[in-house]
Amino acid sequence: MNDETSKSGGEPIVRLDKVNKYFGSLHVLKDIDLEVTPGEVVVIIGASGSGKSTLIRCINGLEEFQQGALEVDGNPLLPHGKATKTLQKIRTEVGMVFQQFNLFPHLSVLDNVTLAPMKVRGLSREDAIKIAERLLDRVGIGDQAQKYPSQLSGGQQQRVALARALAMEPRLMLFDEPTSALDPEMIGEVLDAMRELANEGMTMLVVTHEMGFAREVADRVIFIHKGEIAEEGPPETIFDSPQAEPTRQFLSRVL
Ligand code: ADP
Ligand code: MG
Repeated sequence: MNDETSKSGGEPIVRLDKVNKYFGSLHVLKDIDLEVTPGEVVVIIGASGSGKSTLIRCINGLEEFQQGALEVDGNPLLPHGKATKTLQKIRTEVGMVFQQFNLFPHLSVLDNVTLAPMKVRGLSREDAIKIAERLLDRVGIGDQAQKYPSQLSGGQQQRVALARALAMEPRLMLFDEPTSALDPEMIGEVLDAMRELANEGMTMLVVTHEMGFAREVADRVIFIHKGEIAEEGPPETIFDSPQAEPTRQFLSRVL
């Protein structure tokens, strides 16, 4: 749980105002209003197909939306994918970890982590290596730097993906089911790394089915049902006394 006093608060890092997204005639996101303030950890839960990934992907411009307003750290993303300059800026400020680790298979762990800081942030190889070594240590795999992704377990690969995202010094981290592709015995090590990040004050938006993690780490839980925010609140409220019927039904299936 984040320490309330450590929060910087202030202007929201993420602001969505009546965002609507369609895939053809399929209305996938419906009037989504969402604000995430600096230091906040927001967990998004909901059934498969409810629009969680699409929401996350709209926030870093991987998907266009059709109506509404979306801002990341004061940079507007416009409907229909307009404003490409802003998009570049947003992508350097937002880190993302996916279900599939998406590491570069032909690069060592170290090179996976140093690539973007050198290419995008213009760091020297020496500086990028310093940062990468520190981050790999921090996620507990400092001794794996010279290996290739295929030589690592799933849990280790996902921690490389986390270190790689952090190497860009993001203002916001997005996670889309980061543990769903992992064997059960590896889920804990990835959740631990995420918990630590949350404790350090990172602003995080996390889609997960790990309800224990949500209860423990989230400042706020959002339940999405058929493309709408059906209910949101502190984890105790959502898990112990959900108000909306769809939330109750969902939780009775997963808890
Ligand atoms: P979740 O992550 O909650 O499981 P998604 O955001 O992936 O849900 O999907 C929401 C809905 O949008 C689903 O009905 C899904 O089939 C549909 N969808 C997702 N991506 C696409 C796409 N690229 N083209 C068409 N439909 C899509
Ligand atoms: Mg999804």
